Amino acid sequence: MVRAIREREPLARIVGLDDNWTSSDLGDHGGALSGRVRQSLQDTDAGGFKNYQFDLVVHLASPASPLRYQADPLRTSVGNAIGAIRCVEWCKPDGVIFTTSTSEVYGDPIVSPQPESYKGQVDCTGPRACYDESKRFTESLFFDAYRTRRVASVRIARLFNVYGPGTLPDDGRAVSNFITQALRGEAITVYGTGQQKRSFTYIDDVVEGLMRMIYDCSYIGPLNIGMDREETVLNIAHCVREQVRLRDADMYSEIVHLAAAVDDPQQRRPDLTLARKLIGWNPRVSYEEGISRTIDYFKEELGL
Ligand code: UDP
Repeated sequence: MVRAIREREPLARIVGLDDNWTSSDLGDHGGALSGRVRQSLQDTDAGGFKNYQFDLVVHLASPASPLRYQADPLRTSVGNAIGAIRCVEWCKPDGVIFTTSTSEVYGDPIVSPQPESYKGQVDCTGPRACYDESKRFTESLFFDAYRTRRVASVRIARLFNVYGPGTLPDDGRAVSNFITQALRGEAITVYGTGQQKRSFTYIDDVVEGLMRMIYDCSYIGPLNIGMDREETVLNIAHCVREQVRLRDADMYSEIVHLAAAVDDPQQRRPDLTLARKLIGWNPRVSYEEGISRTIDYFKEELGL
């Protein structure tokens, strides 16, 4: 989403740009958007934006699901890299660029929890690299745009395993897979032993953190936004199965173990010291509550 003021035509506008690669169509957001463009970020003259300069560029693009970004790794790398360059071009010199980076910049961390100062352990030739490295490039480019005064400010948030209503049923990530499998009475697919850990963060908490970072502080980042309670993937599978059974006693999916994903990080947990101090943010929704809300969403979405 972009707040825009067209040069020589001082009309305040909010414009959304999305090619819907991994999302459904942009709604009208209650009328907040004054323009919607269905086009990819990397297109040279995306939506005719060449003539626009924006006060605030909010870059939320890129699939975050390994299944999705690995299905077309070149599109992922190129989309993130060219998209980041476009964002700098579209930003007014006195404007601000905001972006959602990712805990994937920490790779398979050997430090836990991960503070923003941790440099990470990413395999730049592995199947996750198209996402990890292009997000790292985006951070690097935005920091350079700020240091060289090409833009007045940037904000970089690093998100940890976001889930919740709004996810597509076939998105491919753990929480949505487990829920849709359990609701359909299919086996729940755990990759590897399931002892690998993640910090699953509910969407409403993430949105609150991002809004605070955009509007309530001048810290450029990077800033971790994520649940600081780490759980094994197997625990999440059990939690989903139990909660679906609470709704329908006949539903009880088998949990099957499939081959481990290549380069699958073994742990991921944010150090939230900075987020607490700078924007007073703490995740509020436990994964049990968040999973429950997400099950209700998918039940309706799938018509079950
Ligand atoms: N995972 C799993 N089964 C699935 C989907 C994911 O066991 O059907 C595992 C995956 O191997 C990883 C964790 O769940 O260890 C989180 O995966 P996800 O794709 O949600 O996000 P990631 O953190 O890997 O980007």
